[in-house]
Amino acid sequence: MVTRKIIIIGSGPAGYTAAIYASRALLNPLLIAGYKPGGQLMLTTLVENFPGFPDGILGPELMMNMRAQAERFGTEIIDKDVTKVDFSQRPFKVWVEDELYEAWSIIIATGAKPRFLGVKGEQEFLGRGVSTCAPCDAPFFKDMEVIVVGGGDSAMEEALTLTKYAKNVTVVHRRDQLRASKILQERAFKNPKIKFIWSTVVEEIVGDKKVTGVKLRDLKTNQVYFYRCDGVFIAIGYEPNTEIFKGQLEMDEKGYIKVYDQTKTNIEGIFVAGEAADYKYRQAITAAGDGCKAALDAIKYIEDLIAKGIIKD
Ligand code: NAP
Repeated sequence: MVTRKIIIIGSGPAGYTAAIYASRALLNPLLIAGYKPGGQLMLTTLVENFPGFPDGILGPELMMNMRAQAERFGTEIIDKDVTKVDFSQRPFKVWVEDELYEAWSIIIATGAKPRFLGVKGEQEFLGRGVSTCAPCDAPFFKDMEVIVVGGGDSAMEEALTLTKYAKNVTVVHRRDQLRASKILQERAFKNPKIKFIWSTVVEEIVGDKKVTGVKLRDLKTNQVYFYRCDGVFIAIGYEPNTEIFKGQLEMDEKGYIKVYDQTKTNIEGIFVAGEAADYKYRQAITAAGDGCKAALDAIKYIEDLIAKGIIKD
């Protein structure tokens, strides 16, 4: 088996950008893209906040372009999931089903997934009124009625972002108290466009071609009623896709990989980019930036191994 210089795991903007940089450094990276390559942007429509596309670009098209760019410089891509890793010794080991791959350096770019409510209509209307990203989709809801589900920092940020476009923003929260930080709570309470429906859950998202409303259940009275709205922003948290690295890398209590000095993990030679570590920014462009940084750090690491004579050029 050939031991590779770099394996990149994950194929969102972080993974593909890392691959573009690593392949242009002539390191012949292997990118393990997953069975559903492209990440969260494959589920969006028009992306209007990625610089360089003044008229916007469709999420899937942006990802196919990044992939083509990575392939053009020699990135080898496998569209399968990584099933197991062993980072306890060098070279590092990565399994894709029964197939074993080895590399001196690993870039983890497995991203995160938004949590969903699991109610009727939610997946059906995703991209047609249901969204998990206000910075991406808020401009589509100009002068409209929208709801935000959740009571954490993400929900408050989504609600505040939406007030710039929507006519009214209603936060629907399952308790009568927010979990969000005090500063964000205050900002949301002060904003005249934001109102709250407390102790209430969404039971169904209703629509025809697009969302027309939601069925809400008041948990105190048990009453179910229809609430008219054009958009439903789900902001009940994210889950990093880091399950396969548990016990191998340091993580916080929510499973985000701990970073030291930009992209370095607790294991030398293993780098992380994008939402597997970043719960804060979560943008395509920040993930791409992280991918670039992780690749530059990995390239430097490989060059040092070559200089020390540990591996051959
Ligand atoms: P979070 O803090 O876990 O909050 C999730 C919210 O969704 C909670 O209010 C929770 O309700 C609610 N929720 C969860 N499951 C639900 C369900 N099935 N149905 C209805 N409601 C549900 O997640 P987050 O807001 O995404 O934040 C994640 C982390 O990132 C936090 O540490 C946060 O501080 C951080 N963050 C920071 C910033 C910032 O500093 N600007 C911005 C965004 C995120 P309960 O309250 O009842 O549990």
